[in-house]
Parts: sequence; C-alpha cells; structure tokens
Amino acid sequence: MNHLFQNYISSHSDLIQLTLFVTVFFICWNFENIYGVRFQYKKWKHGFVNAPFILTSFPCQLLLGIAFIKVVKWTASHQFGLLYRFHLEKRPFLIFMATFILLDLGEYVYHLLMHKFKILWQFHLVHHSDKIVDVSTTLREHPIETFIRLSFTLLWVFLSGAIFWTFALRQIIQVFTTVFAHTNYRLPEKIDSILGLVFITPNMHQVHHHYKQPYTDSNYGDVLSIWDRLFGTFNKLPAEDLKFGLDTHLDEKKNALFQNLIKMPFIKGK
Ligand SMILES: [Zn+2]
Ligand SMILES: [Zn+2]
Repeated sequence: MNHLFQNYISSHSDLIQLTLFVTVFFICWNFENIYGVRFQYKKWKHGFVNAPFILTSFPCQLLLGIAFIKVVKWTASHQFGLLYRFHLEKRPFLIFMATFILLDLGEYVYHLLMHKFKILWQFHLVHHSDKIVDVSTTLREHPIETFIRLSFTLLWVFLSGAIFWTFALRQIIQVFTTVFAHTNYRLPEKIDSILGLVFITPNMHQVHHHYKQPYTDSNYGDVLSIWDRLFGTFNKLPAEDLKFGLDTHLDEKKNALFQNLIKMPFIKGK
C-alpha cells in the first residue's frame, strides 16, 4: 500500500463510498430478484418506504464528515490515541489491520449499546421494525440514530488515533458488507459456516432481524463475526423459523409509512 494509494483513498473517500454504495446496492437489488427468498411483497413499494432515509441522514453525514477530518488531523498532529502507541505508521499493512479490527470492535460495542439502553433502542428499533429484510433495509435508519452512530464512531476514532486513510478504507469495505448482509438471500449452509467464522453473512444478520428475543439481541457484528463468538452473542436460526420485525411493533400500517417511522421512537410500542 504505497503513498499514492493512501493519498487517493484519503482525498476521494466520499466519492468512492458513494459510487460503491450505489453500485453494490444496484447489484444486490437485482441479485435478490433472481436468487432471493421469495417473499410475498411489493418490493418497489417497500423500497420507497425506506428510501427517504437517504435524505434525512444526509445533513448529519455532511456535518460529521467535516468533524471526522478535523479530529483525525488533530490526533495526527498530537500523535494522540491508542494506535500511535504501537508506532506502526511506517508499516501500512499492519496499521490498517490494527485499525480495522479496533474500529470493528467499536461498531460491535455501539450496536450492543443501542440494544441494551432503552433510550437508544427507541431509535434503533426503527431499523428492526422492517417486516421484510431486503437490500433497502440498509437505508432504514432514523436520522437521530445516524447522529448517535456517527458521533460514537467519531469518539472511537479519536480515542483509537486512526489515520485517515485507514479509517476511509475501512468505511469503503464496510459498504460491501452492510449492503450484502441485508440482502434477501441465503448463502448455502456450507459457505455460510466457513465465511461466518470471520465475517457477518446475510444468514447471520437475518437472525438479528428475527422478531423475538433472544434472537434480536444476537449477532451484533458489523464486518467481523469474531466479536459475537468471543462475547457469546452469536446465535443461529433455521431459515424456515425466521420472521422479521419486532413483536412490539407488528402493525403493518404503522411500519409501512415513512412519516410513522420518523415518529416511532417517540411513541410507546406494545
Ligand atoms: Zn440491531
Ligand atoms: Zn440490519
């Protein structure tokens, strides 16, 4: 990983992420049309319920995107943060791997907190309330959760002392895994059991979207599945037993309107 590559990633990360997101989203949308699980639903209608979240999360992404650059510049000039203690700056592969693992742990901790604290869960449940999990569920995130998530990542990046290009490259890789994990597709069991040893697969994330506990509170991982295995939150469920959504928010009408989803965190569920 030479300097040219690192500079390219740093200066074009937003454009790369956006282009990749659109491309991967488009591929997965068509892929699930051919190979996906046959749900009885109107896919475009479902997609249009989740699509407006792109617009509501945009101001937050923009604002915190600027904050990320400022924080990373500050940590670099002060050599602040855990990763600087290992003096790996001259070993790009090692620093990238260390950053990747540390930031992935951060995503795991973040996701766990969103489930364990009621005030945070009120916002995260919007993502879980989707009764059909497909590629458009990736977009379904309440803007206040977007703010909380990016603020948490900002704090984690600050404490870890991640160098900007390593952080940006991880964000790019994350685009693939997040979109793919929500794809309405089941990997063959054999491939899933091998890939799932290290990475989060659609099969694993679908268990996380099962409507009942203890399944909702399992498989929190973002890119790597190692944290779930290490901390005992890994769970399995056969495809035929899967039912998406939340037992507290099963009302079809409330779940299928964007304006209801925005209000959802402020309304008591059953
Ligand atoms: Zn969750
Ligand atoms: Zn999800």
